[in-house]
Amino acid sequence: MRDYIVRATAADGQIRAFAITSRGIAEAARTAHGTSPVVTAALGRLLSGAAMMGTMMKGEKDLLTVQIQCSGPVGGLTVTADANGHVKGFPREAVVDLPLNAQGKLDVGGAVGPGVMRVVKDMGLKEPYVGQIALQTGEIAEDLTYYFAASEQVPSAVGLGVLVDTDYSVKQAGGFILQVMPYTPDEVIEGLEQKIREIPSVTKMLEAGRTPEEMLDLILGDMGLRITDETDAAFLCDCSKERVSRAIATLGEKDLDDIINDGEAIEVKCQFCNKAYRFEVDELKEIRK
Ligand SMILES: [Zn+2]
Repeated sequence: MRDYIVRATAADGQIRAFAITSRGIAEAARTAHGTSPVVTAALGRLLSGAAMMGTMMKGEKDLLTVQIQCSGPVGGLTVTADANGHVKGFPREAVVDLPLNAQGKLDVGGAVGPGVMRVVKDMGLKEPYVGQIALQTGEIAEDLTYYFAASEQVPSAVGLGVLVDTDYSVKQAGGFILQVMPYTPDEVIEGLEQKIREIPSVTKMLEAGRTPEEMLDLILGDMGLRITDETDAAFLCDCSKERVSRAIATLGEKDLDDIINDGEAIEVKCQFCNKAYRFEVDELKEIRK
């Protein structure tokens, strides 16, 4: 199944919903960074959530960054999404090995540990919007749920799942975000809460072959679900040698001189996708000018 995001409404527009299937995104991130299973799950969940959050933005050039700084062994995660389903991201530590948690699942909460989540939305205004919360469980979905309630004042339910196969590749990835608009009657909210308690986990739904539309149908099917649109989603990095050379140019003159005086070509890797760019001494001298 290709990766894509659907957007929908239910209960006469009182609920808005997003769902994604993102196996390709999570697998591309795993391949780029060589992550171990628990980091594959953590990064895959955050990429899936951020891809959906990106499509909540209005402008073509809007960018959303979710940054987790944490004291667990993964150390941190950074993910950036645009409004068109494109997402990229990286972990601070790609390889973390932890025993499975009490439920026999990859211990994402243990790998992340206590910390903070910052959401930065750059919507072309003078100042970006910044929201920050303390991580609740480090399991990502619960943390995003708390972020929406505490920082954006939008009651939400977030479900995210990444299933890692026995060969460590990504077998399934996906998720959903449900949001309740202001003034929604209590009985609608209670009905939704009841449904969320009843549904299987995201990975179970994906394993059963459910599409994003079908995941939403399971939750909102009897609440007047209306799919409004669909967007292709992909792990996509927009780095280039030009961009990396601009980053090198921001180094201080002394640091640049030191590198040039070493007399050897350097290799600079893009943090987001790990692609390596080689710069010869002559090119560095050109940048120095
Ligand atoms: Zn890149």
